This record gives sequence, structure tokens and C-alpha cells, in this order.
Amino acid sequence: MTKKNRMMRREFLQCSTVAVIAGLAGNSAALSAADNPFEEAVKKVGRLPRRKLGYSNREISVLIGYGGLDEQLVEAAVKCGVNYWHLSNRWPRTGVPATILNNRDAHYCQVTVDRVGGNHETGRIDEEAHYRFVKEMLQQTKLGYFDDMQLHFGYHSTAELKKERGFIRAFERLKKEGLVKHLCLSQHGYAGNSRVPGGESAAEILTAVVDDGIYEHGQLMYSYGEDAATNSFLEYARKKGFGTIAMKTSRGIGRMKQDPEFMKSLPAGTTPHNALVRWLTTESKIDLAIIRIRNIEEFADTYSGAGRELRAADSRAISLMSARADSTACRLCTQCQPYCPQHVPIAEILRFERYALDDGDLDEAQALYADLDRKASDCVSCGSCMEHCPQQLRIPEKLKAAHRVLNA
Ligand code: SF4
Ligand code: SF4
Repeated sequence: MTKKNRMMRREFLQCSTVAVIAGLAGNSAALSAADNPFEEAVKKVGRLPRRKLGYSNREISVLIGYGGLDEQLVEAAVKCGVNYWHLSNRWPRTGVPATILNNRDAHYCQVTVDRVGGNHETGRIDEEAHYRFVKEMLQQTKLGYFDDMQLHFGYHSTAELKKERGFIRAFERLKKEGLVKHLCLSQHGYAGNSRVPGGESAAEILTAVVDDGIYEHGQLMYSYGEDAATNSFLEYARKKGFGTIAMKTSRGIGRMKQDPEFMKSLPAGTTPHNALVRWLTTESKIDLAIIRIRNIEEFADTYSGAGRELRAADSRAISLMSARADSTACRLCTQCQPYCPQHVPIAEILRFERYALDDGDLDEAQALYADLDRKASDCVSCGSCMEHCPQQLRIPEKLKAAHRVLNA
């Protein structure tokens, strides 16, 4: 075993749940059974299938990684063939993992660029600021170039896409200098958002982006459950050769996993993350997906579903998960948003609730919530929003519960 691998294994065992349990119990048998959980996880996952993404037809692993992911999980993912890194500019705090830096051209690294002078609702697109930001990120990450430049959160409306071309100009300048190669965006929905006059839904904006023909691929919220507008956009995108990446995929899974009764109700041999990935990568209309993982056990469980058949038992699991998520976790469609007389940012609040309860990112969720100008406590329980919710969520009650979690 090389010095580096010994180090990785030691560091990994320090944070592994298996090791903690074994250590607490003083149970050496348990430790030897999980003697090398890193290698076992890599073996269980195997080699991820790849798909062509967007106009450039680049071959990319069906599950992509993301900046900020723990170095050992990156190492495991790379061993299994992950070759695209969303948010790779988020690594400067810890440094881009050596496995990527040392084999730079084998990876597609994406820089994610936010609006300036405000947040994703109030900020503006600014050619010069975006141009300078990407250069700054290149210096900090030492990546040399970014493969993809992403407009984070996307456009507010089709009108903005047509009128405001500053992001595209910044991309073209950087591309001429050899510093970026492909243009992409992630797209949230802004219909009925009182801070975004004229805002439109993600599907409307993305359809216009495809027709515009300049962006190569887009990231959008997508998970199990009926979503006709998104499904019809995905069909259109595929026909036009526009690449799609699913984000916010694990709708409600964190809460499901904490409910022993629900977990017992799943068919034998299935787990929520594994069934989700089987469905996403073999049955859905999406090209690639991002799934947040927190440790090597979650990596093995989740990534081992990639490209594997959706068995009858997995389909049953997906139906159960979908029904459960429909009663607990907002799909962030924003259909309720135009009907709130108080301008409560319902979808934003319930997005942060998902970060806290499903992803375990309470600190981030509370910080984002603290920045909102209107909170869940501004809801007057009028009920106007509820009839527009495809999940029939009891929105006022959900907002109250979310406020208790998010209001630090
Ligand atoms: S119930 Fe609350 S969130 Fe829904 S429309 Fe009324 S004030 Fe807005
Ligand atoms: S509360 Fe319902 S309508 Fe509103 S964003 Fe969530 S799922 Fe959509």
C-alpha cells in the first residue's frame, strides 16, 4: 500500500461511521469486516457509464461530482470514472484535489458564476465583473482553464435572455483567451416571484435558451413525481441536442431515511438513493445527475445504482418515495408563488428547508434564510397558494415548521 493510500485509509477510517461504531463498541471483528471500506465502495460501484452531453458530444459520467466534496470521496468517484466537476471553483478553501490537478485534462471542471450587486433574484448580469471573477477563480484554483462556464441560477425571463447578453460576451472573451470552452447555465424558476418582475418558469426560460442555440447544456431541478412541464422540456432538449443535468434530485430522502417505519416499508434489497439513481440513469429523460453524498457509505449506496436496471422492486420503492415526498418535500416548481398576497418566498423557504432536513446542511440553510427579506412568519395563513400546489401541500403549516428549523 502506498504512503498516500495508507494516509487516505487512516483519515477515512477516522470519519467513517463504520469505524466510529466499531471503535465505540471496541469490536475488532466489526472493524475487520469493514477493513477497507474505501476499496469496497469502489468495487461495489464499478465503472460508471458515460453519456454524450450537449452539442460538443463530450462523454461524461452519468453522475457528476461537485466542488467542495471531501477529497477521499473525490478519489473514490474518480476511480469509478467520474470526470465532470460542477462548482469546481468552490475548492479553493481546501485546494482542488490532487487527483484532478495531477491529471487535469482527464476532467471537465466547471466554474459557477453568480450575479453581482445582489443575490440571484436582485443581482445583475455584468460582463466585466463575470470576466474578472473567472480569472480570479483560475488563479485561486490553479486549474489553468475551466471547461464550462455556468450562469448560476440562470435568467429571470426569456426577455432578459434576449436583452441581456453580458454573460455570453464575458464567456466569448474568456474563450478567445483559451480560459473557458463551453457555456452552460443552471436554471431556477421565477414565475410570480415578487422580487423578479416579469419572472418566468424554469421550463419556459430553458426552452428559449435551447432555441437561442448558444448555451450547450443546462442544469435543472428534477426528481421523481409527475412533472409534465419539465418532462416535455426534457424531450425537447434531447431532440435539439441540448444537454440536461438534474439537480436537487434527492427530494425528501433525508427525512425518509430518518423514519424507520418508512424504511421498513421499502421492498427488500432497495434503498432510496440507489433506487433514485437507477431510475434517473436508466428510465428518466435526463442526461446526467448530481447527487449530494456525505460519506463513503452513501457513495457506495448511491453511485452503485448508476446505469443499473430499474427492477420491479425499485419501481415500487420509487412510487413509495414519490408519495412520501409529495406530502413532505416541496418540488420547488414555484406554481404557488404568484398567488401569495404577502409575497412570501415560499419555494425559496422550502428549498432551504430541504437543505436543512434532507441534505444535513443546517448552517447553510439558516444563513440563506437569514438573508431573505420576507420570512415564513410573514405568512397570514390565507390559503390562496394552496390550491395551486400540485402536491397539495398544506403550505402555511409547512412554512411555520420551516421557520422553526431555519430561524436560528
Ligand atoms: S397561506 Fe401564506 S404563503 Fe400561502 S398565499 Fe397566504 S400568506 Fe402566502
Ligand atoms: S409549495 Fe407546492 S406549488 Fe409551491 S413550489 Fe412547492 S410544490 Fe410547487
